[in-house]
Amino acid sequence: MLIARTPGQVREAVAGFARPLGLVPTMGALHAGHLALVRRAREECRTVAASIFVNPLQFGPGEDYDRYPRAFEGDVAALREAGVDLVYAPDAATMYPPGFGAAVDPGPLGERFEGALRPGHFRGVATVCVKLFATVSPDRVYFGAKDAQQVAVLARIIADLNLPVELAVCPTVREPDGLALSSRNVYLDAEQRAAAPSIHRALEVIVAAVRDGETDRERAVARGRAELAPQLREAYLDIVDPATFAAPRDIRPPALAIASAWAGETRLIDNEPIVAVPSGRDEAPVLHDSGRSA
Ligand code: AMP
Repeated sequence: MLIARTPGQVREAVAGFARPLGLVPTMGALHAGHLALVRRAREECRTVAASIFVNPLQFGPGEDYDRYPRAFEGDVAALREAGVDLVYAPDAATMYPPGFGAAVDPGPLGERFEGALRPGHFRGVATVCVKLFATVSPDRVYFGAKDAQQVAVLARIIADLNLPVELAVCPTVREPDGLALSSRNVYLDAEQRAAAPSIHRALEVIVAAVRDGETDRERAVARGRAELAPQLREAYLDIVDPATFAAPRDIRPPALAIASAWAGETRLIDNEPIVAVPSGRDEAPVLHDSGRSA
């Protein structure tokens, strides 16, 4: 397994790689969720690259950039074990040399929900991803469904900027109690950890409410809200269109239940697709014959 530190080293390595080439971008501190992406890439691609880069551009002032978990040696061992061919791990000065000034703006989608809580976050994500794609030139990029708005932003920029990559989205890997794996889960104390699975339970309650016939977004969300543990503070709980993150009042497919809650200083996120929407709502409106002639 090669470890590259600069775009030049990556390009040199990639020139000799068999295609298709898959790329798994990460911020390191790898867990089973990241490794599921690598496994999927390994199954589908002849060569697999992973990047490890804690991207300062996607952290706001006062966020956890400085204390974000870093575990480079263990990450490299895990990626080698998983059969990765190339790890790209630049430092911040290589990614953003003096004078760096360009940015990729994902538009209004990047300002909703996560974007509203973290101004500039998706601009940072979009910018680093475009740089990674331009450097590694993957045929396919692998992202986790856990970060649903990130997936939507990437789908948007890949389409809008005609980027020649295919986006593969992998299901969220969870703890047995439902908590989505996250590098930030290490921040949780025992009480917060015990409360955290209620985020996923809240989402499941919303999904069940819709499946059972609820069509009003706010009522469905209120049902889920009641499930959130009192130790958590809701940041948002809603039902959105997974492509635009718009939240129309009436639930209609495709729909995604999204949640974020604070456990102390740590904000966790999760989501669940709404698979069944009350009958008729996914069909064209039916005009019933009332029996009166026109
Ligand atoms: P991060 O290192 O947090 O930037 O995550 C790197 C990639 O792993 C992103 O595409 C995430 O969506 C994905 N990921 C993070 N947690 C999970 C999880 N629990 N299940 C599946 N994918 C995940």
